[in-house]
Amino acid sequence: MSSKGVKIGIMGGTFDPVHYGHLVTAEGARCEFGLDQVLFMPSGIPPHKTKKRVSSPEHRYMMTVLATLTNPHFEVSRIDIDREGISYTIDTLLILREQYGPTAELYFITGADAIFEIMNWKDADKLLKIAHFIAATRPGFSLEELPVKTQQWVDEHQDRFHVLKVPAMAISSTDIRERVRNGHSIRYLVPEPVDHYILRHGLYQD
Ligand code: ATP
Ligand code: MG
Repeated sequence: MSSKGVKIGIMGGTFDPVHYGHLVTAEGARCEFGLDQVLFMPSGIPPHKTKKRVSSPEHRYMMTVLATLTNPHFEVSRIDIDREGISYTIDTLLILREQYGPTAELYFITGADAIFEIMNWKDADKLLKIAHFIAATRPGFSLEELPVKTQQWVDEHQDRFHVLKVPAMAISSTDIRERVRNGHSIRYLVPEPVDHYILRHGLYQD
């Protein structure tokens, strides 16, 4: 398929579970950069979380579908969860480049925390040739405090890096899992259907 000039946002994540921090970031990126569509991409086995316990891909996929259902510009992709082995962003982006064709503009959306790690990602330089990077502000991670080497690298590729200010949401999946484990409410931190799904399937109870 060749899609002339189409702008696609890719919101990668573990989404265990998906929360309003993810949604506000994706919608902010869509509006600010005029994206035609944002693909939520739940990871298979996340490279940095191989030793942690992560909910099954199907649970994470279902919750992401429930959370994005009402936004006609949001879609959930199964590319990473259907792929064998560890999902590296570079491989995902190469698949999307193939799918959408050479004229599509790809924007990979991350929170500020991911930018601190980005130089360690597989084929980091190649990533920037395939896609733009949108770094969304996230409480607790100041993009002004990047390690010197990372900052230099970002500066060298400043035409491919974009900062996106989103309303500060100090929400993380880690905190949500902790709340559920302790029997605390997660109402208004995740969309209601996601809250119901977590309860119904007894997720994060240990
Ligand atoms: P965990 O605590 O399990 O790491 P998380 O809340 O960080 O979960 P991820 O699935 O790891 O969620 O994140 C997916 C993407 O969304 C990452 O790029 C992350 O930086 C970004 N992100 C997550 N929460 C926020 C938030 N509150 N504000 C801005 N970006 C966020
Ligand atoms: Mg995270």
